[in-house]
Amino acid sequence: MEQIKINLNNFEKKEKDNNFDVIIIGGGPAGLTAAIYTCRAGFKTAILEKMALGGQIFLSSEVENFPGQIKISGPDLIAIFEKQAKNFGAEFIFDEVIKIESQNIVKLIHTASGNIYSAKVIIIATGAKYKNLNIKGEEKFKGKGISNCATCDGAFYKNMDVAVIGGGDTAVEEAIFLTRFANKVYLIHRRDKLRATKIIQERAFKNEKIEFIWNFIPEEISGDKYVESIKVKNVKTGESKIIPVKGVFVYIGLIPNTEFLKGFLDMDENGYIIADKNMNTSKEGIFACGDCTQKKLRQVVTACGDGAIAAFSAQNYIENLK
Ligand code: NAP
Repeated sequence: MEQIKINLNNFEKKEKDNNFDVIIIGGGPAGLTAAIYTCRAGFKTAILEKMALGGQIFLSSEVENFPGQIKISGPDLIAIFEKQAKNFGAEFIFDEVIKIESQNIVKLIHTASGNIYSAKVIIIATGAKYKNLNIKGEEKFKGKGISNCATCDGAFYKNMDVAVIGGGDTAVEEAIFLTRFANKVYLIHRRDKLRATKIIQERAFKNEKIEFIWNFIPEEISGDKYVESIKVKNVKTGESKIIPVKGVFVYIGLIPNTEFLKGFLDMDENGYIIADKNMNTSKEGIFACGDCTQKKLRQVVTACGDGAIAAFSAQNYIENLK
C-alpha cells in the first residue's frame, strides 16, 4: 500500500512538473527573450531545447549590432540571456520535440525521450540551421576539416590556409574572424558581388589575408583523414581548379528547424512558419518567433523583438482563457 502511495505521489508530481502555462521550443535569442517576458508576467514557463542554448548566434565570433553591447561574442551574449531568463524563473528542459498536439486549450508536446509536456500556450522559436553544400567529401570530412563554426574551430587553423564558402553576412564576418589564425582565407563565392552588409564587405576587402575566388562553386572536398583540398568550378567558364586548404567553413544560408511541424502549422515553400505581426500562427494559442518564421531581416535584435511580441500575445491569450 505504502509502495502504491509513493508511486502515485511520484506520478502526480511528474504530471505537475510537466504542466506549464507556456512552453517555448528553442533556446536561442527569440526563445530566451520570450521566456524573460512570460516569466516576468508571472507565467510558469519552460524552454525545451534540443541541444545547447544559443542557436546560431552561439556560433558567431563577434556581434556588434546588438544595441547595448559594443562588441561581444555570441556565447557571451547568450550567457547573459540565459542568466536573465533563469533569474526570472524559467525552467530549462533539454529534450527534442518530435510532435505537438493541440486539444483546444491544452497543447501537448511529445519529446524524443518519451516525455509528454502540456501547456496553455506554445511558442515556437526553433531557429534555423546552416545549409549543407551537398557535394562529394562533405559527409566524410564533417568535423575533420569542415565546420560551420569559426569561433569553435578557427584556432585549430593557426598559420594554415582555409576556405570560406558563401557571400552573405555570416561568410564574410567569419572569414574576417578566421584571419586572426589562418595564414590565408579563400572566400569562395558563386557570384562576383557579395550579399553581405557594406561595412562588413569593406572590412573584408581591406584584409590582406582574404583572397576572393569569384564566380566559383565548390565541387568536391578531398583529403586522407582530414581535409587537404577543395575542388571548385567556375560557373561562367566551367573551368575547375584545386585549392589546397586544411579547413572549409560553410556559410551558404539557412534552413528553418520546422520539419516536426510540417502539416501542423502553415509554412511557406521553404519551411518558414507563417506568423502575423502578433506572432500568431495558423493554430490558436501557438505562436512563433525568430528565424524559424517567414521574415525579411534575421538578426538577434529582430529575434528578440519577435520573442517579446510572442510572449505578450501569449499573455493575452492566457488571460482571455479565464
Ligand atoms: P545568406 O544571407 O542567405 O547568404 C548565403 C550566401 O551563400 C549567399 O551569398 C549565397 O549566394 C551563397 N549560397 C547559397 N547557396 C549556395 C550554394 N549552394 N553554393 C554556394 N553558395 C551558396 O546567409 P547568412 O550569411 O548565413 O545570413 C543569414 C541571415 O542572418 C541573413 O539575414 C543575414 O543578414 C543575417 N546575419 C546577420 C549578421 C549581422 O548582422 N551581423 C551576421 C550574420 C548573419 P548568393 O549571394 O549568390 O545568393
